[in-house]
Amino acid sequence: MKIILASNNQHKLEEIKAKLPSSIEVVTLKEVGITEDIPETGTTLEANALQKANYVAERVSGFVLADDSGLEVEALEWQPGVYSARYAGEHGNHAANNQKLLNALKTADTRNARFRTVLCLIRKDGVHYFEGVVNGTIATEHNGNQGFGYDPLFIPDGYGKTFAQMSLAEKNGMSHRAKALEKLTQFIESVV
Ligand code: IMP
Repeated sequence: MKIILASNNQHKLEEIKAKLPSSIEVVTLKEVGITEDIPETGTTLEANALQKANYVAERVSGFVLADDSGLEVEALEWQPGVYSARYAGEHGNHAANNQKLLNALKTADTRNARFRTVLCLIRKDGVHYFEGVVNGTIATEHNGNQGFGYDPLFIPDGYGKTFAQMSLAEKNGMSHRAKALEKLTQFIESVV
Protein backbone atom coordinates (compact mmCIF):
# COMPACT_ATOMS: atom_id res chain seq x y z
CA MET A 1 0.00 0.00 0.00
CA LYS A 2 1.01 3.62 -0.56
CA ILE A 3 0.88 6.50 1.92
CA ILE A 4 1.48 10.14 0.97
CA LEU A 5 3.55 11.85 3.66
CA ALA A 6 2.37 15.43 4.30
CA SER A 7 5.81 16.78 5.20
CA ASN A 8 8.74 18.47 3.50
CA ASN A 9 11.04 17.61 6.41
CA GLN A 10 13.70 15.28 4.96
CA HIS A 11 14.72 14.02 8.41
CA LYS A 12 11.17 12.99 9.27
CA LEU A 13 10.86 11.37 5.85
CA GLU A 14 14.03 9.35 6.42
CA GLU A 15 12.99 8.24 9.91
CA ILE A 16 9.49 7.30 8.77
CA LYS A 17 10.66 5.40 5.68
CA ALA A 18 13.22 3.49 7.72
CA LYS A 19 10.69 2.55 10.41
CA LEU A 20 7.71 1.45 8.32
CA PRO A 21 7.64 -2.09 6.88
CA SER A 22 8.53 -2.42 3.20
CA SER A 23 4.87 -3.28 2.46
CA ILE A 24 4.05 0.40 3.08
CA GLU A 25 5.45 2.68 0.39
CA VAL A 26 5.95 6.31 1.45
CA VAL A 27 5.19 8.82 -1.30
CA THR A 28 6.64 12.32 -0.90
CA LEU A 29 4.85 15.64 -1.44
CA LYS A 30 7.20 16.41 -4.30
CA GLU A 31 6.15 13.17 -6.01
CA VAL A 32 2.50 14.28 -5.92
CA GLY A 33 3.32 17.81 -7.08
CA ILE A 34 2.92 19.71 -3.80
CA THR A 35 5.91 22.00 -3.32
CA GLU A 36 4.53 24.79 -1.14
CA ASP A 37 4.79 24.84 2.66
CA ILE A 38 1.64 23.46 4.28
CA PRO A 39 0.04 25.79 6.85
CA GLU A 40 0.19 24.71 10.51
CA THR A 41 -1.82 27.17 12.56
CA GLY A 42 -3.32 24.85 15.20
CA THR A 43 -2.74 25.13 18.94
CA THR A 44 -2.30 21.39 19.51
CA LEU A 45 -0.20 18.70 17.83
CA GLU A 46 -3.43 16.89 16.91
CA ALA A 47 -4.89 19.99 15.23
CA ASN A 48 -1.71 20.64 13.25
CA ALA A 49 -1.36 17.01 12.18
CA LEU A 50 -4.98 17.02 10.99
CA GLN A 51 -4.52 20.36 9.21
CA LYS A 52 -1.47 19.06 7.31
CA ALA A 53 -3.11 15.74 6.41
CA ASN A 54 -6.31 17.48 5.28
CA TYR A 55 -4.39 19.93 3.11
CA VAL A 56 -2.97 17.05 1.11
CA ALA A 57 -6.13 14.90 1.15
CA GLU A 58 -8.08 17.81 -0.37
CA ARG A 59 -5.67 17.97 -3.31
CA VAL A 60 -4.56 14.40 -3.99
CA SER A 61 -6.36 11.08 -3.70
CA GLY A 62 -4.90 8.28 -1.59
CA PHE A 63 -4.03 7.64 2.03
CA VAL A 64 -2.30 10.58 3.72
CA LEU A 65 -0.09 10.65 6.80
CA ALA A 66 1.01 13.76 8.72
CA ASP A 67 3.42 14.04 11.66
CA ASP A 68 3.33 16.90 14.14
CA SER A 69 5.88 16.73 16.92
CA GLY A 70 7.13 18.91 19.73
CA LEU A 71 9.47 19.13 22.67
CA GLU A 72 7.80 19.64 26.08
CA VAL A 73 10.02 20.94 28.88
CA GLU A 74 8.92 20.68 32.52
CA ALA A 75 10.65 23.86 33.74
CA LEU A 76 8.90 25.77 30.92
CA GLU A 77 5.46 24.51 31.92
CA TRP A 78 5.80 21.87 29.19
CA GLN A 79 6.41 24.44 26.40
CA PRO A 80 7.41 24.96 23.59
CA GLY A 81 5.32 21.91 22.56
CA VAL A 82 3.34 22.69 19.44
CA TYR A 83 5.44 25.86 18.99
CA SER A 84 8.78 23.99 18.98
CA ALA A 85 9.68 24.87 15.38
CA ARG A 86 9.41 28.63 16.05
CA TYR A 87 10.38 28.76 19.73
CA ALA A 88 13.02 31.47 19.01
CA GLY A 89 10.82 33.31 16.50
CA GLU A 90 11.79 32.25 13.00
CA HIS A 91 10.21 28.96 11.84
CA GLY A 92 12.71 26.09 11.71
CA ASN A 93 15.79 27.98 12.99
CA HIS A 94 17.18 25.04 14.96
CA ALA A 95 20.37 26.78 16.14
CA ALA A 96 18.41 29.71 17.58
CA ASN A 97 15.81 27.40 19.14
CA ASN A 98 18.48 25.31 20.86
CA GLN A 99 20.32 28.37 22.13
CA LYS A 100 17.12 29.87 23.52
CA LEU A 101 16.35 26.59 25.27
CA LEU A 102 19.81 26.40 26.86
CA ASN A 103 19.45 30.00 28.06
CA ALA A 104 15.96 29.39 29.44
CA LEU A 105 17.19 26.43 31.51
CA LYS A 106 20.36 28.06 32.91
CA THR A 107 18.93 28.38 36.41
CA ALA A 108 16.17 25.78 36.15
CA ASP A 109 15.61 23.25 38.97
CA THR A 110 14.77 20.48 36.55
CA ARG A 111 15.89 19.64 33.02
CA ASN A 112 13.17 17.02 32.52
CA ALA A 113 11.56 16.99 29.09
CA ARG A 114 9.70 14.79 26.68
CA PHE A 115 9.26 14.57 22.94
CA ARG A 116 5.77 13.93 21.64
CA THR A 117 4.64 12.93 18.14
CA VAL A 118 1.09 12.82 16.89
CA LEU A 119 0.53 11.06 13.58
CA CYS A 120 -2.69 11.66 11.70
CA LEU A 121 -3.72 9.13 9.05
CA ILE A 122 -6.55 9.94 6.66
CA ARG A 123 -8.03 6.89 4.96
CA LYS A 124 -11.28 6.26 3.15
CA ASP A 125 -12.80 5.16 6.46
CA GLY A 126 -11.88 8.34 8.32
CA VAL A 127 -9.21 9.95 10.46
CA HIS A 128 -6.94 8.04 12.85
CA TYR A 129 -4.39 9.37 15.37
CA PHE A 130 -1.34 7.63 16.83
CA GLU A 131 0.78 9.13 19.61
CA GLY A 132 4.31 8.43 20.80
CA VAL A 133 6.16 9.95 23.77
CA VAL A 134 9.75 9.59 24.97
CA ASN A 135 10.94 11.01 28.29
CA GLY A 136 14.38 12.45 28.86
CA THR A 137 16.40 15.45 29.93
CA ILE A 138 17.89 18.52 28.27
CA ALA A 139 21.71 18.46 28.14
CA THR A 140 23.71 21.48 29.31
CA GLU A 141 25.43 21.79 25.92
CA HIS A 142 25.05 20.56 22.32
CA ASN A 143 26.30 17.05 21.62
CA GLY A 144 26.35 15.14 18.34
CA ASN A 145 25.60 16.00 14.74
CA GLN A 146 23.01 13.41 13.63
CA GLY A 147 19.29 14.06 13.30
CA PHE A 148 17.72 17.52 13.42
CA GLY A 149 16.00 20.10 15.59
CA TYR A 150 16.52 19.63 19.31
CA ASP A 151 18.31 16.27 18.85
CA PRO A 152 21.73 17.64 20.05
CA LEU A 153 20.15 18.62 23.39
CA PHE A 154 17.78 15.73 24.13
CA ILE A 155 19.05 12.79 26.19
CA PRO A 156 16.40 10.05 26.33
CA ASP A 157 16.05 8.36 29.74
CA GLY A 158 18.32 5.33 30.08
CA TYR A 159 20.84 6.56 27.49
CA GLY A 160 23.96 8.55 28.30
CA LYS A 161 23.86 10.43 25.00
CA THR A 162 21.71 12.71 22.92
CA PHE A 163 19.57 11.75 19.95
CA ALA A 164 22.16 13.54 17.79
CA GLN A 165 24.82 11.09 19.01
CA MET A 166 22.75 8.13 17.80
CA SER A 167 22.48 6.50 14.41
CA LEU A 168 19.12 6.73 12.70
CA ALA A 169 18.50 3.07 13.58
CA GLU A 170 19.20 3.66 17.28
CA LYS A 171 16.93 6.73 17.47
CA ASN A 172 14.31 4.79 15.54
CA GLY A 173 14.50 2.03 18.17
CA MET A 174 12.80 4.15 20.84
CA SER A 175 11.99 7.71 19.74
CA HIS A 176 8.62 9.44 20.09
CA ARG A 177 8.14 9.18 16.31
CA ALA A 178 9.12 5.50 16.26
CA LYS A 179 6.58 4.67 19.00
CA ALA A 180 3.79 6.43 17.11
CA LEU A 181 4.87 4.65 13.89
CA GLU A 182 4.74 1.27 15.65
CA LYS A 183 1.10 1.97 16.60
CA LEU A 184 0.34 3.10 13.03
CA THR A 185 1.91 -0.09 11.63
CA GLN A 186 -0.11 -2.30 14.02
CA PHE A 187 -3.29 -0.50 12.95
CA ILE A 188 -2.57 -0.85 9.23
CA GLU A 189 -1.65 -4.50 9.60
CA SER A 190 -4.88 -5.15 11.51
CA VAL A 191 -7.11 -3.64 8.82
CA VAL A 192 -5.56 -4.86 5.55
P1 IMP B 1 6.89 19.89 13.27
O1 IMP B 1 6.27 18.62 13.70
O2 IMP B 1 7.43 19.81 11.88
O3 IMP B 1 6.00 21.08 13.49
O4 IMP B 1 8.20 20.02 14.17
C1 IMP B 1 8.30 20.93 15.19
C2 IMP B 1 9.71 21.10 15.64
O5 IMP B 1 9.94 20.17 16.69
C3 IMP B 1 10.82 20.85 14.63
O6 IMP B 1 11.14 21.99 13.90
C4 IMP B 1 11.97 20.46 15.53
O7 IMP B 1 12.57 21.61 16.06
C5 IMP B 1 11.25 19.75 16.67
N1 IMP B 1 11.26 18.29 16.47
C6 IMP B 1 10.25 17.50 16.05
N2 IMP B 1 10.65 16.22 16.02
C7 IMP B 1 11.92 16.22 16.42
C8 IMP B 1 12.88 15.18 16.57
O8 IMP B 1 12.66 13.99 16.33
N3 IMP B 1 14.09 15.58 17.00
C9 IMP B 1 14.42 16.88 17.28
N4 IMP B 1 13.55 17.88 17.13
C10 IMP B 1 12.32 17.54 16.70
